[in-house]
Amino acid sequence: MKTFKNHINDTFTANLPADPIAENTRRQVTESCFSYVSPKATSNPELLHVSDDMLETLGISKAESESEEFLKVFTGNAVLPNTRPYAMCYGGHQFGNWAGQLGDGRAINLTEITYKEHHWALQLKGAGETPYSRTADGLAVLRSSIREYLCSESMYHLGVPTTRALSLALTGDQVLRDMLYNGNAAYEKGAVVCRVAPSFLRFGNFEIFAARQDVATLKTLVDYTINQFYPELGTLSKATYVQFFKAVSERTLKLIIEWQRVGFVHGVMNTDNMSILGLTIDYGPYGWLEGFDFGWTPNTTDSQHKRYRYGNQPNIGLWNLYQLANALYLLIEEADGLQTVLDDYKTDFETQSLQMMRSKLGLQTELDDDLQLIQNLEDCLLLTETDMTIFFRNLAKFEKDKSGNGLQIIQDAFYQSELNIEIAEKWNAWFQQYAKRLQQELISDAERATFMNSVNPKYVLRNYMAQLAIDAAEKSDYSLIDELYQLLKQPYDEQPKYEKWFAKRPEWARHKVGCSMLSCSS
Ligand code: AMP
Ligand code: MG
Repeated sequence: MKTFKNHINDTFTANLPADPIAENTRRQVTESCFSYVSPKATSNPELLHVSDDMLETLGISKAESESEEFLKVFTGNAVLPNTRPYAMCYGGHQFGNWAGQLGDGRAINLTEITYKEHHWALQLKGAGETPYSRTADGLAVLRSSIREYLCSESMYHLGVPTTRALSLALTGDQVLRDMLYNGNAAYEKGAVVCRVAPSFLRFGNFEIFAARQDVATLKTLVDYTINQFYPELGTLSKATYVQFFKAVSERTLKLIIEWQRVGFVHGVMNTDNMSILGLTIDYGPYGWLEGFDFGWTPNTTDSQHKRYRYGNQPNIGLWNLYQLANALYLLIEEADGLQTVLDDYKTDFETQSLQMMRSKLGLQTELDDDLQLIQNLEDCLLLTETDMTIFFRNLAKFEKDKSGNGLQIIQDAFYQSELNIEIAEKWNAWFQQYAKRLQQELISDAERATFMNSVNPKYVLRNYMAQLAIDAAEKSDYSLIDELYQLLKQPYDEQPKYEKWFAKRPEWARHKVGCSMLSCSS
């Protein structure tokens, strides 16, 4: 029979050491990469959404996705035949400090699938306690599950490397959360998301063994990761480990450049939230830039130091890579190769960041003055609150022979209705510089517009949009989840029927919890 179950191919548990203790008790787990653990049964599961795109990718038929088994498996009430769910052991640096063992505290891996030459791990988030749950309950609430589900799928369609999501379900159970950590705990609807990625390995999976000076397990894990996910690096040796680090560094940089391009702020770039495959992982207190602002972070838990603010993401990527380098050093025993990779990150960042900004401006040639043009633009964008997405999208309509129309074209991006004369003059000066620069390009205005519209999305999951879907879902109306899911499948298309989502953040959302203020509570 044709079923996705024929494609089950568990590599993680087959190749890596398992925790010998079978009990699901909270503890330090040593010399093991994972612990076998079963998802917690849920009382009244209800599927709210299934990604048709992901069904196809995994080879799951429509009929299978509508079966009782699908509902049960992806809400924690049944286990697929010939599989054994498990939670991974990892550590991490949180907000700059080593936090020791963390691990999958509420994520339970179901199995892996190989389909059409692609490899996928399937994982439930919010499926109950594991040995790594520390003081928490292993559960997830509806609001954070909607945010993860919608955002990870939308990131994929934006072309940003990311984990994916297969399904979003209510568990029927209540979950107690103190959303703002201010002593006001309340019950919320429990939910579970099935997320999907080639691997959920994080920097922290490697760091934990280094911290414990467990070189043997570290080596086993690194060898597995290279063989399985970086096979192009070839036979294993110390030189290969440096090449592995280089590949991870390059993917990490590429990822962060993509975040900067679309205005995504991860919010909690701890090393346990850094994918070894360079994917966006762990959608928690993330947010989208509305007003362009290098200093912005949506995460109120980080409001004091703003370590994970938009403009600091590239630096943090590097800081996190240093931690991974320290772990891999135990296998390589020679710092030079690792240091070169880290140095390259800095220079590659300058080059790639400039190239990314050129593309946002529709520039296809490279001129020395471009950096200045971009810095001048950033200065203008910071003069008054200016919506990043609307600005770049509307800029595609600019005509190089009509620089005087610039301000009018981007008018909708400003949060204040009238610009003072001084600010308007600065903008006009920039538009003149931009127009002059465009004269040196070989393409027409129309060609440039098409190119820019493939780089600058029209629709992103604005913070208030996710919150509207959450508010409706709390009242058992799930239609907006589907509307946003459909909308964000084509973020670069005009989609006139969805024009209302091409709009600045409404005033009510400026200081609303969930829109501009998010915590790690999820
Ligand atoms: P996060 O901030 O979501 O990346 O989580 C950091 C660590 O805390 C990870 O080890 C998570 O698995 C764990 N964690 C977060 N929330 C919970 C929860 N509700 N129950 C158990 N562990 C959790
Ligand atoms: Mg995490």
